[in-house]
Amino acid sequence: MVGEQSPSPTVAIGGDGPAGGAAVRDGDVPLIGVLALQGGFEAHARVLRRLGAEVREVRTAAGLEGLDGLVIPGGESTTMTLGIEREGLAEPLRELLAPPPAGRGVPVLGSCAGLIMLDRQHLGLMDVVARRNAFGRQINSFEAPLTIGGIDGPPLRGVFIRAPYIAEHGPGVQILAEVDGHPVAAREGNMLAVAFHAELTDDVRLHRLFLDAVERYVAGRPLHY
Ligand code: GLN
Repeated sequence: MVGEQSPSPTVAIGGDGPAGGAAVRDGDVPLIGVLALQGGFEAHARVLRRLGAEVREVRTAAGLEGLDGLVIPGGESTTMTLGIEREGLAEPLRELLAPPPAGRGVPVLGSCAGLIMLDRQHLGLMDVVARRNAFGRQINSFEAPLTIGGIDGPPLRGVFIRAPYIAEHGPGVQILAEVDGHPVAAREGNMLAVAFHAELTDDVRLHRLFLDAVERYVAGRPLHY
């Protein structure tokens, strides 16, 4: 169980862990990569550490080795796309995140620009089409209370900053939340994508949902949230 605790030191024992390729570490602490080419990666790292995960900022393909989960943060999707091309990260990311047999099916959380990166027109991992800056020029940023499938308790405060929404999605995609009838949170297998910034509030429930999937992945259970 990943609880709220201060990070404990961990030791990576080689790269050959249990089936699925997850590394074995002391104390069952998951190793979560945060794509750190650009954008708001530090706030995600803080939340994940607060929840007891070990965090690695990822800037190269080598940084993807041995991860149990990955967060693609918000930022600017055009800049992030250029960084992914520059570092030759598109294929390694697909190998890490695509469901088997194409990839390892390591859980991913994409937030805002991270959602855009996962869509059909970017990394092509999720069967969704994101519409950039979808809420219009007048409404650059706003907050909305969100009821999210899989998250219990009071609504989660979603912080939307020049946010996309999901304009199209395939049948394998489960929509978890909407704003004005537009999907803003979705999951497909081990991929979780949200149009808002869950890392900018004190509410850790979305990251916990992601880490629950990581725990199940590490335990070798089926690829479902
Ligand atoms: N508008 C940005 C884009 O299109 C996303 C904004 C964000 O990540 N906060 O890439």
